[in-house]
Amino acid sequence: MTRDDVRALLRPNIARLTPYSTARDDYKGSLGVFLDANESPYPTGFNRYPDPHQKVLKSRLSEIKGLPVENIFIGNGSDEAIDMVFRVFCNPGVDNVVAIAPSYGMYSVCAAINDIALREVLLEEDFSLDTDKLLRACDEHTKAIFLCSPNNPSGNAFPREQLIEIVRRSGAMVIVDEAYVDFSEIPSIRKEVLSEPNLIVYQTLSKAWGMAGLRLGLAFADEEVIARFSQVKYPYNISALTQKTVLEALQKPIDAQVKEIVTERARVAKALEGMPCVKNVYPSQANFLLVKVSDADALYDALVKEGVIVRNRSRVPLCKQCLRITIGLKEENEKMLATVKSFK
Ligand SMILES: *Cc1c(COP(=O)(O)O)cnc(C)c1O
Repeated sequence: MTRDDVRALLRPNIARLTPYSTARDDYKGSLGVFLDANESPYPTGFNRYPDPHQKVLKSRLSEIKGLPVENIFIGNGSDEAIDMVFRVFCNPGVDNVVAIAPSYGMYSVCAAINDIALREVLLEEDFSLDTDKLLRACDEHTKAIFLCSPNNPSGNAFPREQLIEIVRRSGAMVIVDEAYVDFSEIPSIRKEVLSEPNLIVYQTLSKAWGMAGLRLGLAFADEEVIARFSQVKYPYNISALTQKTVLEALQKPIDAQVKEIVTERARVAKALEGMPCVKNVYPSQANFLLVKVSDADALYDALVKEGVIVRNRSRVPLCKQCLRITIGLKEENEKMLATVKSFK
């Protein structure tokens, strides 16, 4: 796809949009006399509006991710970045998007909110993806394909060559949600956004980085797509407190913790495999395990009774009798394992 092809996918009203501008866009320093935004002059620590362009935070993320700031969008969680695809590309009541199933629930929620039809393409029994089947589900009104790798709730990652092939063959935007990529052996494809104008890669600080409470999601894409996202977002979508706190938290490396979760994932998987009620533990590249058991509803209730909350996915396509279990601290996992082991 070319940039012209991507421009042709934009909603006409977005292609015409004049974005909201703030007076402070005209002032580059930080020690001016600010009488432009009707803020309070009395310092509270937060009496000034935050930087709508998140310049300092973006330049730090640019170093960490190895991509220019022009290719980075910061959202109020990945959820904002997901919604952005619908608001920028999809005409309500007319267009559709294609998503794999089972996958993350927000794609269908955002589609429904924006009045966009969602076409679900079922994964295979082993949760692999049939490229031809996926592309056959698209038509001239398909504006985006949502992929998630490693996938939630199945935990598997799709081969990099397959994702690239889909991007190259697709006539729509292709979203690859990499929320769990830090736990995966398969590396991120985010750098491909420099040569693939229709690729959008999502990452988040909510999982491996341990900042779910701060709400910070990232989208990587061609600079023209990022420019559109930036025009459509709320100007002050990331609060001053979040920008400051995230910047500090990014100083602390996460490698050791990620390694611990990955080690613990293997240990928990092995322990579960030997238990009477466990039928299958699916291989996982994420920080959770999808586990098929003899009676998911009953085991779920037994775990709740012990104060252990997991996710019951047994009503999701291809996940009959499955629970999704997050890898926690060793002692938390032990408590879960003890309950599963004694379950009759
Ligand atoms: C958890 C998760 C996210 C994270 O969303 P945030 O809004 O950034 O917290 C995104 N995508 C998938 C598939 C997830 O499972």
